[in-house]
Amino acid sequence: GSGLMAGKRGLIMGIANNRSIAWGIAKSCVAQGAELALTYQGDAFKKRVSPLAEELGAHLAGHCDVTDMDTLDAVFDGLKERWGKIDFVVHAIAFSDKDELDGRYVDTTRDNFLRTMDISAYSLTAVAKRAEPLMTDGGSILTLTYYGAEKVMPHYNVMGVAKAALEASVRYLAVDLGGKGIRVNAISAGPIKTLAASGIGDFRYILKWNEYNAPLKRTVSIDEVGDSGLYLLSDLSRGVTGEIHHVDSGYHVVGMKSVDAPDI
Ligand code: NAD
Repeated sequence: GSGLMAGKRGLIMGIANNRSIAWGIAKSCVAQGAELALTYQGDAFKKRVSPLAEELGAHLAGHCDVTDMDTLDAVFDGLKERWGKIDFVVHAIAFSDKDELDGRYVDTTRDNFLRTMDISAYSLTAVAKRAEPLMTDGGSILTLTYYGAEKVMPHYNVMGVAKAALEASVRYLAVDLGGKGIRVNAISAGPIKTLAASGIGDFRYILKWNEYNAPLKRTVSIDEVGDSGLYLLSDLSRGVTGEIHHVDSGYHVVGMKSVDAPDI
């Protein structure tokens, strides 16, 4: 085949439905000739992900719950058997108790702090560890983060703390795996209405705020994140690792609300 991703095979983790950011990335990769394997979280998501996999001619790599290392091992063992090696992995996974994505960070419970860190931060390292031996010709690992890692955003709370740990993990993994030609980067996406985002308090207000105050005066789509993901997964970005790349209509450069922004 032809395209930027021709001859490349990769695993995409974190498609819940056709509004998922991982779905936007999957579409961009296949449009450029990539061959994909997709994981899903449990039977409920399998029903949604199966037709999407079919649409892209992707292989279903099975159930994966990142709190269960046996399911992760099974997915990577399966890929080793099927393909022998892989070229890229997309990690688009996060979770926190909805009750704590509202109100004050200081009220976070220990249980939910640990679960949020485990699923949203540690899992990238667990994935990278299993991807490394399969990336025999080098590779690219991509995760998804949010500005709430850098600055306090309303209601993001413990997820912001987990994303800060995730971003630091990107840098440490980039150093650990760089000698093998494996690159590790993140996209810091602007707010997008997805299943995961629906758990965040006042999310509509956050979308509006971004639309009025980002330099591009609009929010971003999963297709735009997909195309930026394509750059980081392809050889176009072969000189880039350890990077947190903002795909947020430029919101992160703004220091103050626009003077002409309407009231929300
Ligand atoms: P989504 O709900 O479509 O995807 C989240 C995925 O995480 C789901 O597929 C779910 O199955 C998976 N997941 C949750 N817990 C898991 C577990 N224990 N094991 C395996 N998978 C698990 O939402 P999304 O917005 O596309 O989220 C993808 C990534 O993008 C997340 O890391 C999220 O934090 C990040 N992100 C989202 C936004 C946004 O505004 N939507 C902005 C910046 C970053």
